[in-house]
Amino acid sequence: MEVKQFVGGIHVPHHKSFSEHKAIKEASVPAEIIIPLVQHTGVPNQPLVNVGDRVKAGQLIGATDKFVSAPVHASLSGTVTAVERRLCFTGEMVQSVVISVDRDQDKLELADVDLDKVTREEAIKAVREAGVVGMGGAAFPTAVKLSPPPDKKIDALLINGCECEPFLTCDHRIMVEQPEKLLRGVRLLMDILGVKHAYVCVEDNKPDAIEALRQKNKDPQIVLVKLPTKYPQGSEKHLVKAVLDREIPSGGLPFDVGTLIQNVGTCVAVYEAVKHRRPLIDRVVTVTGQNVRDPQNLLVKIGTPLSHLIAECGGIMQQPAKVVVGGPMTGKAQQTLEAPVVKGTTGVVVLPPDLALEDMDYRACVSCCRCVEHCPVMIYPNQISIYCEAGLVREAAYWNTMDCIECGICAYVCPSKRPIVQWVQLTKPLIRQLESERK
Ligand code: SF4
Ligand code: SF4
Repeated sequence: MEVKQFVGGIHVPHHKSFSEHKAIKEASVPAEIIIPLVQHTGVPNQPLVNVGDRVKAGQLIGATDKFVSAPVHASLSGTVTAVERRLCFTGEMVQSVVISVDRDQDKLELADVDLDKVTREEAIKAVREAGVVGMGGAAFPTAVKLSPPPDKKIDALLINGCECEPFLTCDHRIMVEQPEKLLRGVRLLMDILGVKHAYVCVEDNKPDAIEALRQKNKDPQIVLVKLPTKYPQGSEKHLVKAVLDREIPSGGLPFDVGTLIQNVGTCVAVYEAVKHRRPLIDRVVTVTGQNVRDPQNLLVKIGTPLSHLIAECGGIMQQPAKVVVGGPMTGKAQQTLEAPVVKGTTGVVVLPPDLALEDMDYRACVSCCRCVEHCPVMIYPNQISIYCEAGLVREAAYWNTMDCIECGICAYVCPSKRPIVQWVQLTKPLIRQLESERK
């Protein structure tokens, strides 16, 4: 099908070759796991276990009755050694359940549900109870996303298999290795939402993924869409525009234009949750970069420390190295390797320090307008950077800071290495506060 190109954006080196042909491998079991009680966008969970408790793999250990939330489960069997604040990849200290892992693991008990007999309500309940969240990084609770307001009629489901961030290949491998499960997850989501059409969107730098899906797809209502490779093709706004030629309004969400977007890993997790009542206790993580000895796509238990993953991949080749959780354009640089893998962890990228965007000395704006030329939402990153840096919140709001999708392109192209995304991230909550005070 014909797709629309978007203005702005950038062709970045893909750096996918480190891991794109490496089959998913199960990571070894760590001695200790750290399960943060909030791994989603929404209300934190309350702990349901105490120090000294024995827990089994798959056991519910944190929950809340608030709607915008997703419960957490023990990913391995063991003994709770602490319920305390621990470092998260974001740099924040987050209340977490720490588990000393048993040498011998219990087998996870799985159901085998007849999907033809599952109602929409039962399916959403299963997704909620399994703690499924968006696995592309945003970690929004999937059950909430599947319950849009009644006045928002959804007529198209988009499945995001673009994986446009350099280096990351976890979604790519899921599409190559698990196309049947993925397509069953898509069908389930279509039935839950009552939509007639789903579009599985893949960038054209993943021909083996497109071929694997094409061979397994027998459903005429599921359309495969090959998109040109360009960053940030996988952003919600750009995907909706490219595939459906609809524009999400400023401050709006995909359901404002009748669509809903799910990541490919989330589709598999939804299938597992409804078919097998399997909680989300593991995920595929790409461990890659020029500075890691043996890049891999690992199936990792949630709560596994980053240090364990890097050791599993042969360790860091050369210090100093820069470790980024997520992709290099939007990820978070780490000061230590203590933080655990969470449900939204797509990758761990180990870079030589000169390739990392963060923490470099920056200089004044030289008005070259490169950032303006490439900004994919057509705002003015140069103006935004000046006002955000100066703490001028009202002016930053006037220049549409809230429309920034935090893609990192402006910082990437800026000759003065201005940390525009970090300033935007610091300023957005202040704009929200200002707006709520006005109401
Ligand atoms: S991070 Fe924001 S301001 Fe910078 S290019 Fe991306 S959308 Fe534009
Ligand atoms: S790219 Fe950097 S130096 Fe050039 S206009 Fe944008 S903020 Fe200023």
